[in-house]
Amino acid sequence: MTRDIRQLIEQMTLEEKVGMCSGLDFWFLKGVERLGIPSIMVTDGPHGLRKQAEDADHLGLSNSVPATCFPSAVGLASSWDRKLIEKVGIALGEEAQAENVGVLLGPGANIKRSPLCGRNFEYFSEDPYLSSEMAANHIKGIQSQGVGTSLKHFAANNQEHRRMSTNAVVDERTLREIYLASFEQAVKKAEPWTVMCSYNKVNGEFAAESKNLLTDILRDEWGFEGFVVSDWGAVNERVDGLEAGLELEMPSSYGLGDNKILAAVKSGKLSEVKLDRAVQRLLRIIFMAVDYQKEDASYDKKEHHQLAKQVASEGMVLLKNDRDVLPLSEDNDIAVIGALAKKPRYQGGGSSHINPTQLDDIYEEMKRTASGESNIAYAQGYDLDSDKVDDQLVEEAKRAATQSDAAVLFIGLPDRYESEGYDRVHLDIPENQRQLIEEVAKVQPNVIVVLSNGAPIEMPWLDKAKAVLEGYLGGQALGGAITDILFGNVNPSGKLAETFPIKLSDNPSYLNFPGEGDTVEYKEGIFVGYRYYDTKEVEPLFPFGYGLSYTTFEYSDLSISQKDLQDTDTVTVKVTVKNTGEVAGKEVVQLYVKDVDSSVIRPEKELKGFEKVALQPGEAKEVSFTLDKRAFAYYNVELQDWHVETGDFEILIGKSSQDIVLKDSIHVTSTVPVQQTIHRNTTVGDLLANPDIASLAKELLQEANKHNPLMDAAADSEESSEMMEAMMKYLPLRALANFSGGHFTEEMLQDMIDQLNEAQKQKVLS
Ligand code: BGC
Repeated sequence: MTRDIRQLIEQMTLEEKVGMCSGLDFWFLKGVERLGIPSIMVTDGPHGLRKQAEDADHLGLSNSVPATCFPSAVGLASSWDRKLIEKVGIALGEEAQAENVGVLLGPGANIKRSPLCGRNFEYFSEDPYLSSEMAANHIKGIQSQGVGTSLKHFAANNQEHRRMSTNAVVDERTLREIYLASFEQAVKKAEPWTVMCSYNKVNGEFAAESKNLLTDILRDEWGFEGFVVSDWGAVNERVDGLEAGLELEMPSSYGLGDNKILAAVKSGKLSEVKLDRAVQRLLRIIFMAVDYQKEDASYDKKEHHQLAKQVASEGMVLLKNDRDVLPLSEDNDIAVIGALAKKPRYQGGGSSHINPTQLDDIYEEMKRTASGESNIAYAQGYDLDSDKVDDQLVEEAKRAATQSDAAVLFIGLPDRYESEGYDRVHLDIPENQRQLIEEVAKVQPNVIVVLSNGAPIEMPWLDKAKAVLEGYLGGQALGGAITDILFGNVNPSGKLAETFPIKLSDNPSYLNFPGEGDTVEYKEGIFVGYRYYDTKEVEPLFPFGYGLSYTTFEYSDLSISQKDLQDTDTVTVKVTVKNTGEVAGKEVVQLYVKDVDSSVIRPEKELKGFEKVALQPGEAKEVSFTLDKRAFAYYNVELQDWHVETGDFEILIGKSSQDIVLKDSIHVTSTVPVQQTIHRNTTVGDLLANPDIASLAKELLQEANKHNPLMDAAADSEESSEMMEAMMKYLPLRALANFSGGHFTEEMLQDMIDQLNEAQKQKVLS
């Protein structure tokens, strides 16, 4: 339905307009009945609907209507499957339609800076490219159903510790390349209806009050057209927020924020034009939600459960499989050990905590899958509510393990270990679970560990297990998914979207997480995740992009459409992957780019493309990637833009960030003139490295050296001339005058600088 929103705004009273800028209550926006403006509902969340019918809270405390619980973001991202994530989005959109929800509060695109962040399970990755691709497809799926999304938490909300007051101090290049990039492509590609600003400050300013973030970057640069909503309670000074570009305060502050806006407009401190603009943005989305609302919408719970199972199995990562102990055979006698097998941990705590439509019992699923011949025994092994070792439970577990062909241990982090609202302080699993692994391994050589956790853990017990399956927080259908993988009905294909360090202190943020008081400095800069481990050559436990399969893949025929290109061109990279094993499987082909020689500090390699392909045994497929300027660029703070430095780049094809199987190199030429301003302290080396003026500079330097008896003499012998050149590299131009014994005058120096600047100008203009 077309409406004239401007005309509508003209009919609104000042109070009505102000009222639109904050919620009616916890989940509803205000409407204006007399003008036919409806009140729409927004609700969490990223991997399932948390629609609260009665008591409302943002901590996942009160109950909500049943909804399908999909794997949390970490599991979704480990599938590396764009289409699948979109399908989850579609399902979420259908469920939101069925419950009359206009906007879903997700996905979260914050970068996993530290494995300790309590909310890592809700975020996709440590890599901005992977994270933004996942977020974009999630958004596309949901919005295709006529339901809005809220891309959150913008920006630099990478810890829960003091999340409402901490100031994230991040240098501009790092902010752009890592933390904002994760949002940028999601905004540009998928156009979320809304963006949720974060609680924290970024470089001294609350995100909720940052014009730079909410208007200059988000709207003006990235083209965002929806409205910005505060995280629940993130508003500091309401008027400053509105000025900066925060249209909606949530939840309702029951007049507190509205009165401040009203007073500011009345006193002339805030222009009514700005208020109108905010209302216009709000109304546009409100009416979109209403216009797309489907009558009598419903969804198929069983179908969504099946989808949850498929996604869960695609996102689980097989970390270890010595001597192919997996898959299990259906007539094996198996000891299922661990309280988590019967009381699974399938979702994280906090605002994304939902009420599932059904929940798999892992033990029951395993019994169902194994044939009648086999014996599936169960032992609890540990008390989930405590870390203390219970000797009797351990003995029972050992007994069950002794009588079986293999012991499958369900290990993981209890709810109290990780949640929204606080961070972890170590990467350990509970002591009673750690000891259980050690004890069972003494009596059973075939120990298989299945993990339920939202973020990396340390594994000092790794050598005690023959196989490890990282199940993450697999959603309500995790039982079926785990069983399918354990018995080989599904071939694992998940790859880590984050690095597992050997120990916490290996993580690059370790020394500066979670900061001091209300300040956290991101001193590791751009070296987040594998960008650090690969550059610093710190061996991880499991690298980014890693994951095993029950089959093998071979890569060949890397081809690049052109080897010499300009930064305005695109280039196509192709590679063939073949399934060389016995069973069908899926492989995630990863493309990384390495800047071979750069004047700025860059990581060893960066992910710039990935594709997941399904292959039958013996089948081969060609995978194709298109790379543009962004794949080679870094963020140049001086230019305030992405910039490619002319030079060679390596195209690396890998099975993980550390397992590069094919590579080739290309040359990219920059089309962006970078004007160097030459002054008294420009070094000789920097002058000669500038291709635009190098030959003139050489000439002028030779001339200048003639006035310097020492240099002139040195130029005579080849060896000393080379030495001279090396030494001169770091000499500032003023030294030409200083060392010339008065022969090369200040006037001559200035003349030389002028000539060079003029030549540089001409070159840039041409
Ligand atoms: C969380 C958001 C969530 C909101 C509403 C906040 O505490 O940070 O992610 O959408 O509550 O539940």
